[in-house]
Amino acid sequence: MPPNFAPSVQVSLPRICAAALAIHAQTRVPLIAVVKANAYGLGARRIARALADLPCVEGFYTLTLAEALAADLPSTGKPTLALEPTPSANPDDYLPHHVRPSVWTTDVAAALARAHPVLSLDTGMQRFAAPTDQVDAIVKAGDLHEAMTHATRLDHVEQLQRATHAHPGLKLHAAGSALLNEPRAYLHATRPGVSLYRQALTVTAPLYQARDSATPAGYTGFVTPRHGLILAGYQHGLRPGPCLVNSRPSRLLEVGMQTSFVELDPGDKVGDPVTLVSPDLPPDTLAPVWRCGPHEVLLRLSAAAPITYTE
Ligand SMILES: *Cc1c(COP(=O)(O)O)cnc(C)c1O
Repeated sequence: MPPNFAPSVQVSLPRICAAALAIHAQTRVPLIAVVKANAYGLGARRIARALADLPCVEGFYTLTLAEALAADLPSTGKPTLALEPTPSANPDDYLPHHVRPSVWTTDVAAALARAHPVLSLDTGMQRFAAPTDQVDAIVKAGDLHEAMTHATRLDHVEQLQRATHAHPGLKLHAAGSALLNEPRAYLHATRPGVSLYRQALTVTAPLYQARDSATPAGYTGFVTPRHGLILAGYQHGLRPGPCLVNSRPSRLLEVGMQTSFVELDPGDKVGDPVTLVSPDLPPDTLAPVWRCGPHEVLLRLSAAAPITYTE
């Protein structure tokens, strides 16, 4: 067999479970684990299976019913809350799968009442959510027991609390990862996504070439005393910026469609590992350099190769 220089993608299920336990230890309320977008690319099916074993994970959140079914979430035995931008009006589309739709109009709330829908309240996001003055009507129409908002600031949480004040029996949740350091946002549950995954993804590629050089190289004509090449590029989600070579901080000097140049030290040689993301080079470190969020880093790099899971 020829040597394999392809990138490899690893997802640590124990690290995801550890993140969930740490969030629970901090917040002391149950988690609704956000596994939308195939768990930000890391694989909703396997991750949901692992998380479902934790008593602190009360259920899952996806954008759609179809996502919940594709990831086989019903077989975890825990319920899924699906935002459902284009809801079916038939509760029997949800009930057998333990999927609860969110609702933001009286009509849909009434039609889906048997499926135990959750009120989605608009506190600033201005999408998939009801205006705060509709709470009474929608709660009545759907006989609702739960309400949520997509909060990014504490005042969004406070609006949810104010708007549902007349319905003290409602279970409330608002906080995603952005508000996990804000105890007043915890309410009855949290809905973390990226904080479950930021320490879980490792993508590496072995050095395909390593050479000393005194002349301009690559498309851009960069000059560096020693550089290497990996067989991963834009196609694998990469952008120029930080990387690790033999666990030491380095950088991708130039990214091409399927290859990238790496800055090397004198001892680095063919076959040595180049780390593109890992717990030591987390998405939050790459994100500002890439001018995007950690969510996008996870989605891009997790698609670099088929995922191997560590149990
Ligand atoms: C995506 C999402 C979350 C999780 O957001 P993170 O920033 O990844 O924690 C929580 N709630 C809703 C409604 C979402 O769509």
